[in-house]
Amino acid sequence: MVNALEQYDPQIYELMRQEAARQSGSIRLIPSENYVSKAVMLASGSCLTNKYAEGYPGKRYYEGQQVTDLIERMARDRVKKIFKADHANVQPYSGSVANLAAYSALINPGDTIMGLSLVHGGHLTHGWKVSVTSKFYNSVPYPVDHETGRLDFDHIADLAKKHKPKVIVSGATAYPREIDFEKFGQIAKDIGAYHISDIAHIAGLVVAGIHKSPVPYADVVSTTSHKTLRGPRGGMLLCKAEHAEKIDKAVFPGLQGGPHMHTLTAIAVAMAEADTPEFVAYAKQVVKNAKALADKLLEYGFNLVSGGTDNHLILIDLRNKNIPGRKLAKALDRARIVTNYNTVPGDPAPPSNPSGLRIGTPAITTRGMREPEAEQVAAFINKVVENIDNETVIEELEKEVLLLCSQFPVPDHFIIPNKNH
Ligand SMILES: *Cc1c(COP(=O)(O)O)cnc(C)c1O
Repeated sequence: MVNALEQYDPQIYELMRQEAARQSGSIRLIPSENYVSKAVMLASGSCLTNKYAEGYPGKRYYEGQQVTDLIERMARDRVKKIFKADHANVQPYSGSVANLAAYSALINPGDTIMGLSLVHGGHLTHGWKVSVTSKFYNSVPYPVDHETGRLDFDHIADLAKKHKPKVIVSGATAYPREIDFEKFGQIAKDIGAYHISDIAHIAGLVVAGIHKSPVPYADVVSTTSHKTLRGPRGGMLLCKAEHAEKIDKAVFPGLQGGPHMHTLTAIAVAMAEADTPEFVAYAKQVVKNAKALADKLLEYGFNLVSGGTDNHLILIDLRNKNIPGRKLAKALDRARIVTNYNTVPGDPAPPSNPSGLRIGTPAITTRGMREPEAEQVAAFINKVVENIDNETVIEELEKEVLLLCSQFPVPDHFIIPNKNH
């Protein structure tokens, strides 16, 4: 299908070819990125993009839903099965919209929400100041402990008692440790707040049983479908039966119009893939690779927030290396190692040029890399740090990176032929 695009729109075809080559010819360490399977790709680029399906199965506002109803029911059932949830809504356009829907289902504008501060690893939509979630709601963020880099539940409980939020959000975007969702559930219960758990990053680890699920301890669980879960870009909400109607109404007609049926179809495919022993093995390897990478970085004298990792991501505190996060991320990108700069707890520098670098292993693990390659990646990062202003070394390293990439090919549908071939 992609090759036919060459005839219809050669300019876009060429750009897609370049992006596919970039994705296969670089080491992707951005912890929220992955490579989907061919089946997921086919479903998301399918005729389902042509169908409007406002409403829910059996209650649509347009006719012609004979097939879409079956697909959405199948997607919901598969999500409910793998997450062991009472109810699933698979329509949110993305994780951010899913979070907004969760808030608007449970609380009113002006009510107080309490989520992890963005500069300590929380997501924008957990009430960060530039997000509408802090304009629509009164946001009281909680921090992590600056010394340990970990959640301090006594402090969170004290803040909750003091500010009496209506919603406590658990979950993070840059937190390398397992999160105790049961404790969050208890803190929320003690003050009569709702507990919304956002597992956008770790959903794949939860499905594989590597991290404990928040489903028993949260009123609503929000997630993306595209990070460790390895599905198409999208969002989902899981909840207890008592909140099902409110959640569905908040998504449609509260926030959205028609669902993206091609995405729902691809979510259904990805959920079946996640429900396999192969996926469990994949998720286990993601964590093993992250630990191997972290251990090697520690050997090279890097400081890691919280001292290491329990999940798929690592947050490097670069202050002892005297290199700003952005400078290192740009130098690594020239060597075809793709990362993102990030704040670290207690960072004196601003989020636009912070002191940390965030890396993760979901994408390299999908390519089949294991502990030896994870250690090699750590060595590459160390080399760039030690030669940050030496372009000759960085150019040589680029060749080594390309060699490693060629030994661990991406799923074959990511290769788009050059039109001269
Ligand atoms: C990625 C992420 C989101 C938002 O997802 P988008 O699909 O980018 O809108 C929400 N919450 C957390 C914790 C995330 O990491």
